Amino acid sequence: MSQNIQVPATAAATGPFVLPPLPWKDDALAPHVSAQTISFHYGKHHKAYVDNLNNLAKGKPFEKLSLEEVVKATAKDPAAQGVFNNAAQVWNHTFFWHSLRPNGGGAPTGKLLERITADFGSLEAFKTQFADAAKTQFGSGWAWLVLDAGKLKVVKTPNAETPLTGAAKPLITCDVWEHAYYLDYQNRRPDYVTTFLDKLVNWEFAAQNL
Ligand code: MN
Repeated sequence: MSQNIQVPATAAATGPFVLPPLPWKDDALAPHVSAQTISFHYGKHHKAYVDNLNNLAKGKPFEKLSLEEVVKATAKDPAAQGVFNNAAQVWNHTFFWHSLRPNGGGAPTGKLLERITADFGSLEAFKTQFADAAKTQFGSGWAWLVLDAGKLKVVKTPNAETPLTGAAKPLITCDVWEHAYYLDYQNRRPDYVTTFLDKLVNWEFAAQNL
């Protein structure tokens, strides 16, 4: 799919880690998430995590690892906190962009809907639980739908933390850092979360991850 975020040539990646293209155009989620939000969130924040990671990894063993390997290798290492924070934020944001789509929301189908109904009781019950996690994550972080030991669960993580470092398999995420919603929703995180679930969530991506 085409995308029209232009990263200036002067800002080209200078290391092994790259900023992946968005899966849709920068204005494709409007009016729910504006092109201005995407320009800052993707073009500035996500890009900065990539640049920071390349700078921190330079000349270190991390340079030779995949992004996922860096996240897992540094998760429990206080001496590598900066590398972990930036690597995990690169991974989380790429996963988040794919968790969104134009004309998203609605209901999942097939096996995913069956699993949600079985594990949460109903789609509405899932949405309530997910929204509660997203709204109550104190400060910055993420809400996730994960597959954990054969059961779908909702979890939340603070700051850069990610289910990737544990046993659970992430299916979908919602970024609840203020930079994800403040330009469009100001302090109204609950409205942003409701819009994520009703208008933006990419159930096809979740189904692929199942
Ligand atoms: Mn973010």
